[in-house]
Amino acid sequence: MLKILKFLITRTRFLLAGIGLIILLGVLFGTILGKNNLQIFSNIAVQLGLVNGSGNEINKDIDNSKTRALIDTRPVVIIDPGHGGSDGGTVAGGALEKELNLEVANLVGGKLTKAQVNVRFTRDSDIKVNLSERSKLANEHPGALFISIHHNASTFPEAHGVEIYYAQSKPDSVILSQRQYFKLGRDDSFSDHRGKLLAGHVQRLLCSMTGANDRGIRDSRLAMTRWVSCPSILIECGFLSNAKECSNLSSSGYREKMSAGIAAGVLKYLKMVDTDPYYGTSIKASKSAKIAKLQSENSGS
Ligand SMILES: [Zn+2]
Repeated sequence: MLKILKFLITRTRFLLAGIGLIILLGVLFGTILGKNNLQIFSNIAVQLGLVNGSGNEINKDIDNSKTRALIDTRPVVIIDPGHGGSDGGTVAGGALEKELNLEVANLVGGKLTKAQVNVRFTRDSDIKVNLSERSKLANEHPGALFISIHHNASTFPEAHGVEIYYAQSKPDSVILSQRQYFKLGRDDSFSDHRGKLLAGHVQRLLCSMTGANDRGIRDSRLAMTRWVSCPSILIECGFLSNAKECSNLSSSGYREKMSAGIAAGVLKYLKMVDTDPYYGTSIKASKSAKIAKLQSENSGS
């Protein structure tokens, strides 16, 4: 009887130790698994932007840049500083065109940004960008304005003043994307004078604010005006080959006035478009019906 009792006590001790071990392992395993699951959930939540990096707080700072992108209704202006990198452009009077183009572009961009315009650049450093890349970027924004900035040179040293180019005729593919932008029917006739009007506003304000010689606006077949579907102009800010004008163009005070004139011209054009979304176009279909349609679409979005 005593032997049987001893046997039972010994076995029960092993049995209890075994049960204890199983419980301990279960708790440890459960904790690790739970932690992993929490970590996985936390990572997914961070990816989805539901919580912040600490994993346990609702992120009150919603990603502002993403939110802005969703609700950004500011007009877009693409500024294109001509040349860059191995392509220096015109070199005259100790001035390098690609550098002056970038400086003027940055000044214009700063002024437009202050005026609540969404500014994009085709280049913002000294790099070479192909013409096709520049127009490709522009054509991603059919509702934008495109402003290419250059400096001129001539074999006649007396030549001086400002010229702005636009293109009255554009390739069929560009016209097609313009028609799509305005949601035109197949039979609606369409003509586009927006580039000419934009050139006119910028030329007038640029010349009046700098006192520069007004050489007029010109219809041309330049790539940067022809290949771009939105209203696009190319500004020749002045002649580096003219000693007096080169000295002006190289001075920060003159550049300040010049960029103010360009920005004012762009803002004047944008104000006109604000009043009439079809400003500068001629469409055979009822214009008032189209405006009402566009306005109702805009107010509904
Ligand atoms: Zn140039």
